[in-house]
Amino acid sequence: MAISSDAIRQAVSAAHTAALMVNGGANASYIPYLASVPSGLMGVAVVTADGQVFSAGDADYRFAIESISKVFTLALAMELLGADAIRRKVGASPTGLPFNSVMALELNSGKPLSPLVNAGAIATASLVPGDTADQCWQKILDCQSSFAGRPIDLSAEVNTSEQTTNFHNRAIGWLLYSAGTCYSDPMRAVDVYTRQCSTLITAKDLAVMGATLATGGVNPVTGKRVISTANVPHVLAEMTMEGLYTASGEWAYTVGLPGKSGVGGGILAVAPGKLAIAAFSPPLDPAGNSVRAAAAVAHVARSLGLNLYAPAAAAASA
Ligand code: GLN
Repeated sequence: MAISSDAIRQAVSAAHTAALMVNGGANASYIPYLASVPSGLMGVAVVTADGQVFSAGDADYRFAIESISKVFTLALAMELLGADAIRRKVGASPTGLPFNSVMALELNSGKPLSPLVNAGAIATASLVPGDTADQCWQKILDCQSSFAGRPIDLSAEVNTSEQTTNFHNRAIGWLLYSAGTCYSDPMRAVDVYTRQCSTLITAKDLAVMGATLATGGVNPVTGKRVISTANVPHVLAEMTMEGLYTASGEWAYTVGLPGKSGVGGGILAVAPGKLAIAAFSPPLDPAGNSVRAAAAVAHVARSLGLNLYAPAAAAASA
């Protein structure tokens, strides 16, 4: 049975109210820009597979996409190179380690295992074709815009903040290169990856981006196909395994939807065939996931009975 608009409206509003009562966490501080974002901001949005938009709170505030960008560069690379190439060259497994782990690379002969950790995302960016970093970057930016259904912009301020502090990621780039798992100049790959993390989106944009996956690859607002239906399950499977880093298992256990977080405070979850839920709030837990955004997304998913692993009746009463 289709979920009613009233049920979604109520779930979004209640999730926003409930998440505001959740405390804890701290803004990311290793990227100076992120430390300066007001911690009290909190927005929630849902976009359905037929393009209806629901929101509460600061759902129009523009925040840094950060690691959520990894999902869309992955989708692009799958389109351009085929899903099998990504699985072979980057991987399709959880790492069980933090998103910027060097140890994960060392333990696996330099294979990143997942396109949704920093190493795998840098490797994925290195696979996007282009004669120059700018050409490669333009494809990634166009892809983010197609998913969002509006032109997405790079923030010069976020990008400068990241490019001048991303020494750990540069080290990862060189480690990949030495293992033969970086497919362009490693500093170009890190540059492009850093730019893809430095665009600004709203919770509403993020929900549209997720809804494009929920429909099987067609943006429900623009009606344009963004990726092939065949690649969508692979993207969602990667999100399930590594989308919330070391909390991905807990997330699957408690929420039961493919998700993705970013250190900018955004979290996205996709209910295939139905809708996407997005939330934004800057303070993060130790794994790098927004405390309030996770609570809000989980609240909406629970209220609407969206757990993928639950038979419909059990999901509705969970
Ligand atoms: N730009 C950030 C980094 O590379 C993204 C990390 C994240 O959102 N988890 O560290």
